[in-house]
Amino acid sequence: WTDGTVTDAENSLTELAALAETAGSQVLEGLIQRRTRPDPATYIGRGKVDDLSAVVLASGADTVICDGELSPSQLRNLEQRTKVKVVDRTALILDIFAQHAKSKEGKAQVELAQLEYLLPRLRGWGETLSRQTGGSGRGGGAGGGVGVRGPGETKLETDRRRIRHRISRLRREIKSMRTVRVTKRARRTRNSVPAVAIAGYTNAGKSSLLNRLTGAGVLVENALFATLDPTTRKATASDGRLYTLSDTVGFVRHLPHQIVEAFRSTLEEVAEADLVVHVVDGTHPDPEEQVRAVHAVLAEVSADRLPELLVVNKTDAADEDTLLRLKRLWPDAIFVSAHSGRGIDGLRAAIEERLPRPAVEVRAVLP
Ligand code: GDP
Repeated sequence: WTDGTVTDAENSLTELAALAETAGSQVLEGLIQRRTRPDPATYIGRGKVDDLSAVVLASGADTVICDGELSPSQLRNLEQRTKVKVVDRTALILDIFAQHAKSKEGKAQVELAQLEYLLPRLRGWGETLSRQTGGSGRGGGAGGGVGVRGPGETKLETDRRRIRHRISRLRREIKSMRTVRVTKRARRTRNSVPAVAIAGYTNAGKSSLLNRLTGAGVLVENALFATLDPTTRKATASDGRLYTLSDTVGFVRHLPHQIVEAFRSTLEEVAEADLVVHVVDGTHPDPEEQVRAVHAVLAEVSADRLPELLVVNKTDAADEDTLLRLKRLWPDAIFVSAHSGRGIDGLRAAIEERLPRPAVEVRAVLP
């Protein structure tokens, strides 16, 4: 369903398909509906539900993924009508985050986000969406397994209690892990090493750029959300000054609020950076939209007032017209290719130029 243009919807759907493939699904068909607002009962309109059911039947699909956040009842109604599992964008993204979280803190944060998503959606019959809590090494046994049919009221209450219990434990754990990280960060501040955060839409080439700039072996994947846990590397400026470069979590349009919440602490690191290097994919069909999405997330963690250096990446693969248009649109942006190395020296110089000046000790030499 979309209230915008069909092109917007198509871009968003292409991204959704890429997300689904990242999560390990095989995408069979796409279906778009234009409406002024979602149907309160079934998200898409009634007639469209019949179309959808027909597509499901014909393609043999076992899951429907909707590009938006569905209310618990919309989800349930659609499942009843299509007879297959229905997943919304939020659940899908949470699932991917769960598959990719590596650090202990990252895992705990995703599990917390999943449980908060799950709690209002737990129901006394049918599946308990437990697949969505499966990936992050959950320890609390949240709800029944896949296909557990008809737990009674009591079972539901027990599940809810267990989940709430697990949620508060996770919150406590995350809080203490966070203290450790804040202490580390304070040490950095005391040492006054300038920090540069590389932000940008997922798949824009942040990890590749970090590798280019520091020669570090960071995992580069052509998969959305390859980067979940921030990686920090040391770099030395041409004048010998040391600074840190951190790769941040991938941003994506309509990042579920549970994830923004969960990753707030990781994103907060961006807010404490001295400079944000905002990487944009020059080959993307709608780079401006990507930039807007990243700015929206940065604003949510109050990182929108930091000095920002816009970097258009993948110039080796982008078409000339797009690059010209983007140069006019963003005259101060730096154009690079992490692959070919084009523009990297210029980028390094631009970063160094924008690093805060160290407090210089001035000694007057009197004649
Ligand atoms: P991240 O998610 O922003 O960290 O992006 P990655 O660094 O993991 O890169 C995502 C994909 O884009 C990978 O397939 C990279 O090989 C590709 N990529 C990164 N930089 C460039 C570039 O300069 N040119 C081209 N053509 N592809 C690039």
